[in-house]
Amino acid sequence: MASRVVKGGPGLTEYLNAAKSAEPLFGDIQKHVLDRAAQPSGRRQDVLHPSEMVKTDWCHLAAWHRLRLQVEPAEKRRTTFTRENIFEEGHHTHSKWQRWLTDMGRLAGDWHCLSCNKVFWDDQTPACCPYCSASRRCIEYAEVPLNADPLRIGGKADGYSSVDTALIEIKTLGLGSLRFERPEFLERYVVDTDHGRVPDMTRLWRDFRRPLPTAVRQVQLYMYLANHFEELPAEKTIFFYDFKPTQETKCFTVTYDEAFSEPLIEAAASIVDCLQTDTPPFCNHNGRSGCPSCLEFKEDDR
Ligand SMILES: [Zn+2]
Ligand SMILES: [Zn+2]
Repeated sequence: MASRVVKGGPGLTEYLNAAKSAEPLFGDIQKHVLDRAAQPSGRRQDVLHPSEMVKTDWCHLAAWHRLRLQVEPAEKRRTTFTRENIFEEGHHTHSKWQRWLTDMGRLAGDWHCLSCNKVFWDDQTPACCPYCSASRRCIEYAEVPLNADPLRIGGKADGYSSVDTALIEIKTLGLGSLRFERPEFLERYVVDTDHGRVPDMTRLWRDFRRPLPTAVRQVQLYMYLANHFEELPAEKTIFFYDFKPTQETKCFTVTYDEAFSEPLIEAAASIVDCLQTDTPPFCNHNGRSGCPSCLEFKEDDR
């Protein structure tokens, strides 16, 4: 099993394999998806993204370079069809939970009117657009913006419930996403069977009792931004997890702990200071020698 673990290598091999597919339509779809993934994402490059800041390998120097040049990290462009399929599945799962909450009138956040293109906040599902009176059918949910302009941080939570004073995060858990995100967690559940080494997904799901650590770090930062910069009280975050192999679900709550995000907030403040004086910060992982993230920018300079 271990030898068959999917690796997020360069997309070229995947692209060439797609071209060789026995069924031309299947190959064409894969090429289409990989082509689309290679296009610029449209994601803001002038802000620090909480999802990157909470990674253990987040490099302050690389972040400084990226804000200065406003380019997408090259790592983003390396993908596989399976990986894109996982992302797409994640988007569908978000829409599903958000739709249920919208139907219930329990979802607060930004709403986007497709008729007049305005965006407005509402604590519950709007009956019509306050600007052009377009009907509910023309309004789509636009999630919860979480921006700290002085720190150049820009993010978005999946939802907010005013009744619960809580942010909402929606996650999918599956073999594919665990292979990419938490291979060591998956490995703990791999057992030897007559058919080789396979993960015991039943036991894995039973033992899954809290959100993954990266997800906790991310929502702690979200709650900090909500409470300090968006005047949006967030006492906790409610997680909804969809388990892909069986479609079972779990819900967890993470309580706000202000101190949790302080080191990240301080790091963002010092990166902004360094931008203002045009002085590169030190790589926080490997000092003057640099780490893989910031060395990538060094190569660009040549
Ligand atoms: Zn409108
Ligand atoms: Zn570095």
